[in-house]
Amino acid sequence: MNILIINSGSSSIKYQLIEMPSTKVICVGSIERIGSSDAISTYRTDTNKVEKIYEIASHKKGLEKITSLLLDVNIGVLNSTDDIDAIGHRVVHGGSNFTKTTLINDEVKNKIKFLSSLAPLHNPANLEGILMAEEIFDSAKQIAVFDTAFHGTVPVKAKKYAIPNELYNEKGIQAYGFHGTSHKYVSEKANAYLQKKSTNLISVHLGNGCSITAIKDGKSIDHSMGFTPANGLIMGTRSGDIDHSVIFYLVNTLGYNLNEVNELLNKKSGMLGLTGFNDLRDIEREATKGNTNCILALEMNAYRIKKFIGSYTAAMNGLDAIIFTAGIGENSSFMRQLVCKDMEYFNIHLDDSKNDLRASNLREINTKDSAVKILVIPTNEELEIANQVYELLA
Ligand code: AMP
Repeated sequence: MNILIINSGSSSIKYQLIEMPSTKVICVGSIERIGSSDAISTYRTDTNKVEKIYEIASHKKGLEKITSLLLDVNIGVLNSTDDIDAIGHRVVHGGSNFTKTTLINDEVKNKIKFLSSLAPLHNPANLEGILMAEEIFDSAKQIAVFDTAFHGTVPVKAKKYAIPNELYNEKGIQAYGFHGTSHKYVSEKANAYLQKKSTNLISVHLGNGCSITAIKDGKSIDHSMGFTPANGLIMGTRSGDIDHSVIFYLVNTLGYNLNEVNELLNKKSGMLGLTGFNDLRDIEREATKGNTNCILALEMNAYRIKKFIGSYTAAMNGLDAIIFTAGIGENSSFMRQLVCKDMEYFNIHLDDSKNDLRASNLREINTKDSAVKILVIPTNEELEIANQVYELLA
């Protein structure tokens, strides 16, 4: 079965063609800066790699460009659009409607549209990708895989905010949780590795967006992001947890308008606001040169992760393994070291030499006598989407 995975963002489309059940990746690509005259298209197969700049005005034009690459007589991988059996669409917000991977029909599209008010940056672009794919790949089954779905198991006591009940019951205001595809993928890998009947895991996804999930016996029971992906850990440009009174102070006393506050907290805060950089590689480099803002930002970031680890250990009444994943979690031995140091009370002991080794597959980086395993597990959201689509259709 040929499954095309589409991740349609506000100005980009990322895609992968995966053959299932072999899990062979046939091609990988992306188009960034859609809407501009210098959109960048990358396309890679086993034998070819092409990067080109085009004028790509819309998602429709973007998907047409992708289709022409897939069908190209020289570098393409398909004879016809009918060779695609199914398309797996990453959809960020499924609200409380979608806790499972879902075959797309008109009702599903309407609900994704309705949920756009909860994820204005993501759901409209996800829906656009679905509509375009339906036109171009009209014989393929279209499937939605929701970022929120894995957190459908979080109990009410953890996901409900202490605000009047009708806002939860009637308006759907609650913590939904995100990065579910990634947390599900790495926690299943961890469970297969640990070979225990019952497990308490903490999955730490540290990329441009950062989140942390408590996973008991394979089920998400608590998660750091909330109503939107703005909550929880310190991220590249998002503040994470902040007292909401700061918003009122910014507006009422300092004269910001609400759009400016939104922009400030989502785009200008986090590591960028603290250091002037949002890429952790730059921040680590500056910290080693003695930049005090960078040193403090790294400490703040790690400190917040530690606090979540402590609270989730309490919530699960135990901890078998911490999983580090995504760009920072997989690559930054420095951040892992900051998070795991001084955690003897929890019987968490990092092996520094294992932590410094680089590898592209699952690895254990704790000492032999550490009761808690510390695992680095590369995430693969595209493969997880392909797995879920295949499971639904096979
Ligand atoms: P992701 O969203 O998972 O693609 O993660 C992207 C982020 O990972 C980048 O913005 C960097 O901050 C971080 N990152 C990637 N490689 C490294 C590295 N070798 N060391 C530290 N951080 C890294």
